[in-house]
Amino acid sequence: MSSFKDFGLSAAMRSNLDQLGFERPTEIQARAIPPGLAGQDVIAMAQTGSGKTAAFGIGLIERLRPRLFAVQALVLCPTRELADQVAKAIRELARARDNIKVLTLCGGVAIGPQIGSLSHGAHIVVGTPGRIQDHLRKGTLVLDRLATVVLDEADRMLDMGFQEAMEDILSRTPPARQTLMFSATWPEPIRKLSEQYQREPVDVRAESGVENRDIEECFYEVSPERKIDAIMALLSQRQPSSCIVFCTTKQQCDEMAETLSGHGFSALPLHGDLEQRDRDSVLVRFGNQSCPVLVATDVAARGLDIKSLPLVINADPARDPEVHTHRIGRTGRAGEQGYAVTFCTPSQGHKISRIESVRGREVQWGDTSALLASPAEPVTPAMKTLCIAGGRKDKVRPGDVLGALTGEAGIPGSAVGKIDVFDFQCFVAVEKSLAAKALSRLENGRIKGRKIRVRIV
Ligand code: AMP
Repeated sequence: MSSFKDFGLSAAMRSNLDQLGFERPTEIQARAIPPGLAGQDVIAMAQTGSGKTAAFGIGLIERLRPRLFAVQALVLCPTRELADQVAKAIRELARARDNIKVLTLCGGVAIGPQIGSLSHGAHIVVGTPGRIQDHLRKGTLVLDRLATVVLDEADRMLDMGFQEAMEDILSRTPPARQTLMFSATWPEPIRKLSEQYQREPVDVRAESGVENRDIEECFYEVSPERKIDAIMALLSQRQPSSCIVFCTTKQQCDEMAETLSGHGFSALPLHGDLEQRDRDSVLVRFGNQSCPVLVATDVAARGLDIKSLPLVINADPARDPEVHTHRIGRTGRAGEQGYAVTFCTPSQGHKISRIESVRGREVQWGDTSALLASPAEPVTPAMKTLCIAGGRKDKVRPGDVLGALTGEAGIPGSAVGKIDVFDFQCFVAVEKSLAAKALSRLENGRIKGRKIRVRIV
């Protein structure tokens, strides 16, 4: 088993990794860090949860020249959530060195403040392709000193229609740059991208993680008409605290979430047609236990910062076995027992056969009539979300919200859940039975000395 000592990292980086609790490299780190440090191009197959961010982040930081005030590394991510997550991880790793500036540049927020931040200089930029292109066009982002570009979750960026944007951005970087590509799957367009933009890449495409995880899987054959009943029966039976139901299209997501809600289940759709603020609100409620069921497309669910789910449901089989593996890899993380269920109609059987042939073994089928016979018991949330009209720009911090709830409002701290602060509003989860009380008390209280507007989402 390898150790971080084997890589010739700086002493400061090694002690920072110690502090972060990284005792030994994950498989992807052991394979990707050495060529990355040596300045070589790398193609890596890695999923969220494999330690991929540090697999490229450690090398980026070690190779940086802090005295050179220019963008030396660019990380492209498919979504703002992933970019935020990656930037946060890189900042933690960058504590090993002084004065390294990491900037995120994503769409969905005003461009003006980003231009201001860029004018102060940054060493590492993490962003989404569309917004990076905007800055390149405006000349507010200059990449002529760029040493390394990372394409994180390259397959998802393709799925989201960023192929041209990625090519445009790559063509505006110095030809001598290092190019690191990370992708969970490896479809043809990704191979082409690698051929075109990488030089003799070191291939570290070992599949890791999911295979060794503890995921129990079950498949059910069901007619299209009974599918929604079967999904409700399964949810009733398992009563998950959190669950993603994967659908193929946006329309299916909307219809499924609507039907589930109509039957008393707490469910929300997540897909690419949502406005950023609606997306934020859905993710907040899913993340803070006030909406247990998320009905999502593959594209929309990518980049979600979700630790581990007790249950993943495929309302339809995934397009191919790799996507299937990626979907079910959201359960059974971090040593927990995971459970994944796939529904398939008789005409979709060939997709399951492909999974079996990739795995070299048969899947396990459940008894659909027994499932359909189980009693209905809608899945409802443990928490409710309050939305407070005041956020980061009003200098509201999580502590202020917690203080207002536990202080004047008299809500016990144990009944207060996750607090998410955005620029102009914040969300706080409160135990369902106490939500009305919390609302009325907050409405009459103050935060930062001011009266506040509050509503239940
Ligand atoms: P990622 O796949 O980059 O999203 O990382 C998943 C999680 O694993 C993050 O919370 C990291 O902080 C953590 N992590 C990454 N590398 C290591 C390591 N070598 N040892 C322990 N934890 C790690």
